[in-house]
Amino acid sequence: MAGAREHGAEGSPNGPDVVIIGAGVIGAGLAYELSKRGCSTLNLDALPSAGYGSTSCSSAIVRFSYSTLPGVAMAWEGLQYWRDWPDYLGVQDDRDLARLVSCGMALLDTPTGHAAKVMALFDQLAIPYEHWDAAELERRLPLLDARVMGPPAPVDSEGFWREPGEPLAGAVWTPDAGYVSDPQLASRNLQHAAQALGARFRFHAEVVSIERRDDRVTGVTLSDGTIIPAPVVVNAAGPDSGRVNKLAGLAGTMSIRTRPMRQEVHHLPSPVGPDGRGLECIVSDDDTGVYVRPETGSMLAVGSLEPACDALEWLEDPDDYQRTVSASGWTRQTLRLARRIPELRIPNRPLGIVGVYDVSDDWIPIYDRTDLDGFYLAVGTSGNQFKNAPVAAQAMAELILRVEQGQDHDSDPVRVRGRYTGAEIDLGFFSRNRQINRDSSFTVNG
Ligand SMILES: Cc1cc2nc3c(=O)[nH]c(=O)nc-3n(C[C@H](O)[C@H](O)[C@H](O)COP(=O)(O)OP(=O)(O)OC[C@H]3O[C@@H](n4cnc5c(N)ncnc54)[C@H](O)[C@@H]3O)c2cc1C
Repeated sequence: MAGAREHGAEGSPNGPDVVIIGAGVIGAGLAYELSKRGCSTLNLDALPSAGYGSTSCSSAIVRFSYSTLPGVAMAWEGLQYWRDWPDYLGVQDDRDLARLVSCGMALLDTPTGHAAKVMALFDQLAIPYEHWDAAELERRLPLLDARVMGPPAPVDSEGFWREPGEPLAGAVWTPDAGYVSDPQLASRNLQHAAQALGARFRFHAEVVSIERRDDRVTGVTLSDGTIIPAPVVVNAAGPDSGRVNKLAGLAGTMSIRTRPMRQEVHHLPSPVGPDGRGLECIVSDDDTGVYVRPETGSMLAVGSLEPACDALEWLEDPDDYQRTVSASGWTRQTLRLARRIPELRIPNRPLGIVGVYDVSDDWIPIYDRTDLDGFYLAVGTSGNQFKNAPVAAQAMAELILRVEQGQDHDSDPVRVRGRYTGAEIDLGFFSRNRQINRDSSFTVNG
């Protein structure tokens, strides 16, 4: 990439063209995409290895059921990378690679209307799906009680135990949906692919200051006092994104904020249905407020869809939170799942993981430049951007290069073409200065 080499010449002769703060799936993906374009990159991460941060807790579900057309288009493009993973990474031996498990997803067609909205978006983009009516849903997924249970209510309220109502309107089945077997490994795969092209990664390296001269970033300083000069710095710090923006003096300069939010995902055994099989697909159920995914060892992983009746657990400090699952979280989520799957056996010992989302004001990420020249954002991933990391990295790489070559992204937004689907991605949609997007679900659904 000619532009990047020029930056290297402008900065220190030994400094990288681009410093990326963070080596989660987003930062590692960006290193690979920039390296492919000839940039020299250095990822700095406070943790010991790639994907150790919030990525390590990801349910890594690859689904397309977003509430906006660009959200759906990006996720559909994102799927193709996971399908093509060894070729995308340029490796012959796929033994140590993360893998896409294509198990399909049933999005329950509930009174919230989300399924109808999603089908209209799928139609516009020709994304394959089937609409099952209630009888078909019962036939295909006999473990499920396919009646209306909602709207979701606190488990200690009378409303939670209300009698099920009418049959659901069915479900939207996307056979192409699935999950990635190991999100941390996927980040390491990206790291290794980037390193094969010359990218550098430094771990146990915490950025404590962003250096600037006038309106231009000039590098970063680490906690041990090392100064690393660079003409371009990217904030890919996950749940620490707000803190890093503060270091850059950018707090309050954008319309959209990001905030860390604690999140629990619980694990429990799958029951076996009348057909002798456990639950083998993903189910997204905003009528009870949970999603569920198969786990290895005949287990299920159940996570929250942030129903309106639940208080969200915002964190002041993304590193200071209870890291073990709570009795209340376990009870809430497993009982919600048990309403939908009456055969579920709930163990008397809670099991699960605790992670942190980096949530934007409208649960849509920010992929953008900033008012500090040379400082970029790949943040606000809102619990829903694992699947999109490679396509987001491609888009961010293009955005950085074009802005550094002089494009005024704020008035003339960068547009990129999806490598696989050819869909146009208008990066103005992910602007830091957008109005809050009212089409969003304001949940992890995006
Ligand atoms: C419980 C849970 C379930 C999820 N499920 C899904 C899902 O099913 N599907 C989906 O698509 N997405 C899902 N997500 C979202 C997805 O996992 C995230 O969007 C994605 O992993 C974010 O990656 P990241 O690289 O931005 O952040 P991270 O992985 O958190 O990486 C950021 C890195 O920056 C480093 N860092 C921060 N500050 C500094 C600093 N000052 N100096 C040096 N290093 C720093 C951190 O150490 C960290 O390693 C889920 C997330 C969680 C938490």
